[in-house]
Amino acid sequence: MYDVVIIGCGVSGASCAYMLSKFDLKVAVLERSSDVASGTTKANSAIIHAGFDPKPGTQMAQLNVRGVELAKEICEKLDVPISNCGSMVLAFDEADMEHVQKLYEQGVANEVPGIEVVDAAKAKEMEPELADEVVGALWAPSACIINPWEYCLAMAETAVRNGVDLFLGTEVSGITKTEGGHFVVDCGSRSFESQYVLSACGVDCDKTRSLLEEPDYEIVPTRGQYFLLDKEEGRRVTRTIFQCPNEKGKGVLVSPTVDGNLIVGPDAIIGDREDKSTDKEGLDAIKEAAMKSVPKVNFRKNIRNFAGIRANSKSGDFIIEESKAFPGFIDMAGIKSPGLTAAPAIAEYVISMLADDGLPLIIKEEYVDERTRPRLPVAGHIGGGGKIYTKEEADRIRNEKIAADSSYGRIICRCETVTEGEIKEALHGPIPPVSINAVKRRVGAGLGRCQGGFCMPKVQELIVRELGIDWLDICLEEPGSETLSYRTKTEAGKED
Ligand SMILES: Cc1cc2nc3c(=O)[nH]c(=O)nc-3n(C[C@H](O)[C@H](O)[C@H](O)COP(=O)(O)OP(=O)(O)OC[C@H]3O[C@@H](n4cnc5c(N)ncnc54)[C@H](O)[C@@H]3O)c2cc1C
Repeated sequence: MYDVVIIGCGVSGASCAYMLSKFDLKVAVLERSSDVASGTTKANSAIIHAGFDPKPGTQMAQLNVRGVELAKEICEKLDVPISNCGSMVLAFDEADMEHVQKLYEQGVANEVPGIEVVDAAKAKEMEPELADEVVGALWAPSACIINPWEYCLAMAETAVRNGVDLFLGTEVSGITKTEGGHFVVDCGSRSFESQYVLSACGVDCDKTRSLLEEPDYEIVPTRGQYFLLDKEEGRRVTRTIFQCPNEKGKGVLVSPTVDGNLIVGPDAIIGDREDKSTDKEGLDAIKEAAMKSVPKVNFRKNIRNFAGIRANSKSGDFIIEESKAFPGFIDMAGIKSPGLTAAPAIAEYVISMLADDGLPLIIKEEYVDERTRPRLPVAGHIGGGGKIYTKEEADRIRNEKIAADSSYGRIICRCETVTEGEIKEALHGPIPPVSINAVKRRVGAGLGRCQGGFCMPKVQELIVRELGIDWLDICLEEPGSETLSYRTKTEAGKED
């Protein structure tokens, strides 16, 4: 019997698990994928939005701005890379300037710190690569860039370390409420009993809600696709550059990533919630839009395209509500952008709902609110909490690690300089990665220019050696994406 069962371990579910793990409660997280952060949390723009976009007075506005404060605190405590680079919204004509002014006023009403409207000269001084056509901009210094999956992972790992039970590969297929007043959450071969159920199911929130009752909202899955460019393009701009938002969303951005690449996108295509494909037509339109802001972006340096699915709803706000018919079931639905930013604030709000309902929140004596990432610092790169290491500091830390264990001196991923020691540490972490991409999410092996072409077999070898998983069972991501089909040699070296 759990006090709280959380369904879904994207950034919303992980934030709830992290914040609940400080209390003396029995908490379980049920996630259908083989790793955390496998839904929309791993495929978005990775911006901690300042908070001038949401309409003043909405829950989204309040949770966005609070989310920025929390993200900075959490990244510091849990060693997650973050950069306080700020963001700009560009205006290209008078109509855009009016829009920028409106965003400024919304920002002031939402209590976004430090925002200002700047003229073209100031905008170009801040970002020399901006197009000559820019006539002004909104400057929001509190916006950040972050590694979204590591943010989610760090919170989930800390929750697990503090006693939360995480069940991966566990899909919820039924929810009932007993006469005794508690919930039974069915996951095929096993079920979980709990006093409260929190649903944090991303684009599938409506499907999960319908296991209990018909939702009174509709989810409109909206795909957004991206270019990820090589680090050679990573300093084309130093801040996140938006255009004026339109009815489809925040528009195409050009932004550095916290790993030093350049990200360009997204578009907004209403469609299938499963369809994470990319298409030439959409990508060409993104390219054209991005070059309106930053004409010299060199798209020949593209290393990857990907897409994420927004859990858009017709409501202009997040839908965070307790079921009236089934009290104790709390739905986090329509967690569209700025959901990554707002997630820990959403968790705070949900926990206040549990407290109001009488759930005793007693802080555990042995609670540990810290974590160390397995990644070694690289000179000049953004590290945990936003720290940038000098060559001397990075070398000292690396040399100390190598002295203790020589595997920290063996490079596995050449593009990102990831060592065997770092991968080994991740494989034995609080949430062991069992797929190639899960290793990538923890240490960045395969994230660079060659996209795993060089290191993938070595990563597989380490998964086999450290976790005892069979070669043929190793997946790129989920079961069904096995990379090897059969053995070509027996152990004695003969054809099999
Ligand atoms: C193109 C795009 C750009 C974006 N850019 C930004 C941005 O820059 N900044 C920002 O703040 N926000 C951004 N967002 C929004 C942000 O990414 C999302 O709001 C956030 O990631 C949602 O997290 P989540 O945990 O609610 O959902 P998800 O990350 O989708 O997690 C839901 C989890 O629930 C699991 N699940 C679902 N059903 C079940 C079930 N029945 N049983 C068990 N598990 C289940 C899924 O497997 C998944 O892991 C963007 C979104 C998109 C698509």
